[in-house]
Amino acid sequence: MVKVNENFLKLPGSYLFSEVARRIRVYGETHPGAEIIKLSIGDVTRPLVPAVITAMHSAVDEMGTAESFRGYGPEQGYEFLREAIAQGDYAARGVNIQPGEIFVSDGAKSDCGNIGDIFGVENVVAVCDPVYPVYVDTNAMAGRAGEYQEELGRWNRLVYMPCVEENGFSPDPPKGHVDIIYLCSPNNPTGAVISREKLKAWVDYANASGAVILYDSAYEAFITSENVPHTIFEIEGARTCAIEFRSFSKTAGFTGNRCAYTVVPMELERGGVKLNTLWNRRQCTKFNGVPYVVQRGAAAIYTSEGRAQIMANIDYYRENARVIREGLTKAGLTCFGGVDAPYIWLKTPDGVGSWDFFDQVLDRANVATTPGAGFGPSGEGYVRLTAFGGAEATKTAVERVCGMFR
Ligand code: PLP
Repeated sequence: MVKVNENFLKLPGSYLFSEVARRIRVYGETHPGAEIIKLSIGDVTRPLVPAVITAMHSAVDEMGTAESFRGYGPEQGYEFLREAIAQGDYAARGVNIQPGEIFVSDGAKSDCGNIGDIFGVENVVAVCDPVYPVYVDTNAMAGRAGEYQEELGRWNRLVYMPCVEENGFSPDPPKGHVDIIYLCSPNNPTGAVISREKLKAWVDYANASGAVILYDSAYEAFITSENVPHTIFEIEGARTCAIEFRSFSKTAGFTGNRCAYTVVPMELERGGVKLNTLWNRRQCTKFNGVPYVVQRGAAAIYTSEGRAQIMANIDYYRENARVIREGLTKAGLTCFGGVDAPYIWLKTPDGVGSWDFFDQVLDRANVATTPGAGFGPSGEGYVRLTAFGGAEATKTAVERVCGMFR
């Protein structure tokens, strides 16, 4: 009889978001008049900008005539988009990334998960705690995480790097050896960013030890602070140790459109093999490219009007983040993040547990949050709030939560 991949059987149920949804549903059923505002959503709510819509419409028209119709595109993405990314996201910041180092894909989630295909199963993997769950679960599926320890809420072969108040929610390189390091800046869920100095320490660690950094900057567009790197390739030495993941999801509202990209520099080699060659082989074998229409839409954000339009949407979310952060701080609560990220990491008052606080806020303010404990053991005592909602609803939600502490 066929054997299933037993690593899947070790995965704990996807508890966090389904449990959040369940509690909101049950509350709504038992309190029919309650108008619940969700500061728990991780999805964008602003529509696609006009420049993207226009580009996509004309691409659809191109697909309608025999002369300009396109079938399969290049697995790595169309040259027009790779070139626009190399110029707009890298050359514009003084960073040299060539189109051949850029792989356009259908999502940073898929890429963060699929990248494991090019690494051996015996590698030791380090993740932040709390963490975007995709890094952990995909390594568990591949057999790289060992056994799940229910009582500790962690896998025994993963190295967890606590991201806590004391280290500014930003981990330092470990004393011991790890092979694959997942870093995420701006961070989901804490909203923290990794400083230039700390990122340099990570790059030095990886180059000295032969490790590879998998750098997720899906929220790069939210960076406002001066000294925060927008890409790991601003750091000297990163071209020999890092892979970067970027996404149009939060930058340009593409969560339903699906487009992202991954950068694998030509100099990055391990065991005498170029990782660019391996990733290219992997993508050509298992992936057939992003739709032409979608790539035309993505390319439109690199025009000056497209750029201005998407930044207006980012500013809308940033203002929500400010309203949440400042409102809750005034009410005496302790908030982190929300400056260079759409996420606010709220410390629960008086050491209340994440889930208890979630229930209290849902009941007394009719506001939904996401319990920090669901992102890893070090998330206990926090909840995550997001800035992706409507401006009015966000203000109302903040007033209601503040009302709990008057
Ligand atoms: N990386 C992080 C840290 C995220 O939070 C998310 C989405 O929530 C993604 C990647 C997924 O991006 P995409 O929509 O491109 O798959």
